Amino acid sequence: MPPRSSSLRALLAERFGFRDFRANQEAVCRAAVEGLDVLLVMPTGAGKSLCYQLPALARGGTALVISPLIALMDDQAAKLSALGLRVARIHSGLGREAAREACRAYLEGSLEFLFIAPERLRVPGFPEMLAKRKPGLVAIDEAHCISQWGHDFRPDYRMLGAHLASLRPSPVIALTATATTQVQQDIVAQLGLGFGGREPAVFIHGFRRDNLAIEVVEVPKPRRAAFAAELLAPPEARPAIVYAPTRREAEMLATELGRGFKAAPYHAGLDPDHRDRVQRAFLAGELELVVATIAFGMGIDKADVRTVLHTALPATLEGYYQEIGRAGRDGLPSRTILMHSFADRKQHDFFFERDYPPVERLDAIFRVLGDEPVHWEELPELLKRKQRLTLEREECDKALEKLVTHGGAQLDYTGFVTRGSARWRAPYLAQSQHRGGQMQQVIRFAESPECRMAQLVRHFGDTGDGCAACGICDACAPLAALTQTSRPLEEGERRLAHAVVAALGGTPYGGGSKSTGKLHGELCARNGVSRDRFEDLLAALASAGFVRLDEASFEKDSRTIPYRKVSLTHEGATFSDRDADTVVMRELNTSAGAAATTSRSPKGRAQAGAAPLSAAAAALEDKLRAWRKTAAQKLGQPAFCVFGDQTLRLIAQEQPAREEDLLLIRGLGPAKVSKFGEEILRVCSGSGG
Ligand code: ADP
Ligand code: MG
Repeated sequence: MPPRSSSLRALLAERFGFRDFRANQEAVCRAAVEGLDVLLVMPTGAGKSLCYQLPALARGGTALVISPLIALMDDQAAKLSALGLRVARIHSGLGREAAREACRAYLEGSLEFLFIAPERLRVPGFPEMLAKRKPGLVAIDEAHCISQWGHDFRPDYRMLGAHLASLRPSPVIALTATATTQVQQDIVAQLGLGFGGREPAVFIHGFRRDNLAIEVVEVPKPRRAAFAAELLAPPEARPAIVYAPTRREAEMLATELGRGFKAAPYHAGLDPDHRDRVQRAFLAGELELVVATIAFGMGIDKADVRTVLHTALPATLEGYYQEIGRAGRDGLPSRTILMHSFADRKQHDFFFERDYPPVERLDAIFRVLGDEPVHWEELPELLKRKQRLTLEREECDKALEKLVTHGGAQLDYTGFVTRGSARWRAPYLAQSQHRGGQMQQVIRFAESPECRMAQLVRHFGDTGDGCAACGICDACAPLAALTQTSRPLEEGERRLAHAVVAALGGTPYGGGSKSTGKLHGELCARNGVSRDRFEDLLAALASAGFVRLDEASFEKDSRTIPYRKVSLTHEGATFSDRDADTVVMRELNTSAGAAATTSRSPKGRAQAGAAPLSAAAAALEDKLRAWRKTAAQKLGQPAFCVFGDQTLRLIAQEQPAREEDLLLIRGLGPAKVSKFGEEILRVCSGSGG
């Protein structure tokens, strides 16, 4: 008889001292208490541990907890012991006697929790010992370690599935913070979740972050440092973390930003003491900025980070999500800005081709190898002679490294190589395809006109989330975005938009889809519109809902060539001049920081020495700000969703009297004007607000 929720709540208070469940915890606990297998995916800090600990106490018996890191295990065990629970650990950091004692206590049934490292299961006799007395439940922490697609693959996790069988019928609870849908499937399959014909309960929650306004903006590489300095100029934009793609760039950027801010670089090339000092200074508020490679952030818990800036495309969406997640832990509005351009894709392609050489190279090396050892330095020469393949030293080394990694070659410590198993090929291809796919996901995210938060939430398979638009990212609220300004279509763009619709055949979805490159060739051969600007127009049309953009690919010479397709939507089929009014073109806001500095706060204004507002304009600015606050409250959105401070200030300066005047103000497009125009004019005329 499963306990009722009231008794779970009582346990929660009595044993853990918590007044209430956090979001989703209760449902997870209930499923586990009922004996269902559970896959639980929630972000770090959400409170996953309780979701196995409480059911463990409710079910009785000993809970077996498998954890990949000694530090994690010690931390959890110490917390449970402090609550007066009986806990033992078995890992390599503890002596034999401690392990024996733990086993004895386990067999006696006197433990509530037993923590073990996964490699323990390889010790002969240990799994059999566990099976003698079945645990009340089995918890597998950091379960993504089981998947080779996860970022933390641990071969020892691979055997877990095989050992669980002897521990049944205990329910198994797998917990992780970072699983993508693919990793989730992997966990379920490899652990064999779903025992006795009962489907596992899957909970994926909490990936939406309501206080993060995500922006993605195209900025040419050489301008990124200056743009970053502008964006970080307003005091409210700091403290901030700036992520740079390489150590060298982190150093250079830190020097550059160091001129205006208290900034320091942080990367794996610095010695641990130094890194520690930087981290502590940042936590203590002595540094305003850390310019870091992805090495920074593990275990960083600074609640008031206001901005996370990426100065290049990240390698994976999972990593990106973790990094932007370090902003706004205190729940206050925070901004994340990702800068990229076509050049980043080129750089990614370059690294990809360097790190995942064509499979033919590995084939060639595999063919020249045999049982007779060959020294690795002789390989390029051998390849040239026997395979007529000329490779640079480095190219050859990289291919050999991959071959060794996947078992196709064995390299001994004296540097001699022999042939390995012929089964290396499929895993190598799978891995390189996977890596390529991850890059495509990042690019798609950056280029998609869809809500940023909704895209991320969907990427993690957050099933309970309706994937509603967030209302505050650059896709949802382009006019509030700091990095870009918006304007209506110009006459030429308007004509081009109509031409696009005509070329797509005027029928929605159907056969009318074309590659964007081809369409550009057809429509822009003579008007001189560049591919980039054409893509911008398509993105604007997609944002407004008239066309749809899809990533597609074809195979050529055993490589996958990605391209984009555009097709009409239902609305697009009847695209009219009136519709064209609602399309918003976005451009880089070249005075983002300057504008923000001058208008965000009185202090910033004075510092920047901007032209002071007239007394009347300043009074109007205050009135407009008050009106904006009420308007935003009615919408249930932050104030900058109505429009940004920059626009607010421009209105105060211009003191518009007619709707047409409003349309001339940067940041006020037709949509905003039709929604708020009347009210704004009323405030400006002094007759309301
Ligand atoms: P995760 O494993 O998801 O990263 P933890 O299980 O370590 O997170 O929990 C994070 C923190 O939240 C811990 O300090 C934990 O004590 C606390 N916590 C968990 N559940 C509750 C709750 N219902 N009420 C208050 N605090 C909670
Ligand atoms: Mg945890």
